Amino acid sequence: MIYLDNNATTCPLPAVAEAVLHTLQHGFGNPSSIHGGGEAARQRVEEARAQVAGLINARETEVVFTSCATESINTALRGAVEACRLERSRMVITSVEHEAVHDIAQWLQGRGTDVAIVPVDALGRLDLGRLEEELKTPTTILSLMYANNETGVVMPVPEAVRLARDAGAVVHVDAVQAVGKIPLDVDEIGCDFLSLSGHKFHAPKGVGVLYVRRDARFRPLVIGAGQEGGRRGGTENVPGVIGLGVAAQTMAQGIAERCAHLARLSTRLEERLLAIPDTCLNGDPDGRTPGTVNVSFKGIEGSAVVLTAARDGVCLSAGSACAAAQHGGSHVLEAMGVPFEYLHGAVRFSCCESTTLDEVDRALEVVEKAVAYLRAMDPTAAR
Ligand code: PLP
Repeated sequence: MIYLDNNATTCPLPAVAEAVLHTLQHGFGNPSSIHGGGEAARQRVEEARAQVAGLINARETEVVFTSCATESINTALRGAVEACRLERSRMVITSVEHEAVHDIAQWLQGRGTDVAIVPVDALGRLDLGRLEEELKTPTTILSLMYANNETGVVMPVPEAVRLARDAGAVVHVDAVQAVGKIPLDVDEIGCDFLSLSGHKFHAPKGVGVLYVRRDARFRPLVIGAGQEGGRRGGTENVPGVIGLGVAAQTMAQGIAERCAHLARLSTRLEERLLAIPDTCLNGDPDGRTPGTVNVSFKGIEGSAVVLTAARDGVCLSAGSACAAAQHGGSHVLEAMGVPFEYLHGAVRFSCCESTTLDEVDRALEVVEKAVAYLRAMDPTAAR
């Protein structure tokens, strides 16, 4: 199998799997217990908290463990709206946010929050002028992704955060797709909340992170027995948290080397894919995370390419995994105004640091063959 779907999920690192298994076998204590077993689990959880704090330059007390980024995002956005001091709450998001942001914004809108959506241009870049305009209306919270999961387009987060803070809004950053590719420093970013998902950076599924700035106004979403400093009730997923700590420590190191390798893979993918007739690149050619390449093959279905390539053992994605599950088109590509004949032909290639150039070359052969086969089957398709 050649796995080029790392934006959907990643393979746990061997050191992560080892730490998780060891915890399951030998460290099953409840970190809230006051006996030795609890104390040992608590110590390991706090070690993981320090490792995550190191990844994003936060204080350990600002790191809250959750079950996934979706929970972190729901907590931040709902929590900020509930703690809002304005007469009427208002949220600003972008048109290309992940469903985790988009859907909670819609949910809050149904309960009286005003929601403004800032557009992107044809390359998926945020319109900062429009953002500034939107922030002239008193705003509770801006939520912005750092890197887009479908196209890899990197948002101007520091500039956007500055505009939002000058306007008196709090800021949540969805950094799920940025980990290990963009150095994350919450003090430099200046955000109040930041969300991460373990399984996107080689930790297990079922564990996420919410960074909560020490002075942020905040209401917990999951209320329970006071775990996580009262900010997230429920016994921690100790093996997951420990695995996430190990992954965070690994991701904090060697970003330059990782990005250089991923950039080489992207270059190869782009060169060969764009040589296929009637194929276009989706997203800013000069402002994407390395390792993510999203192209559209005119006149054929991206999902047909994905399924055909899968028969030869190549794992790709047509848009995001979540959109695939809902059988929907890509709201990201639609927001970018991708023309209809290219819209449904999108295929995403997403690599990780262990992806080799040889794997990319073999995957490209399979995809070239799949596109030719599908176009040959459909006489109306572009040649
Ligand atoms: N935000 C972004 C940018 C994502 O790519 C994802 C997952 O694909 C999420 C949020 C949600 O992460 P999870 O499904 O792990 O909660």
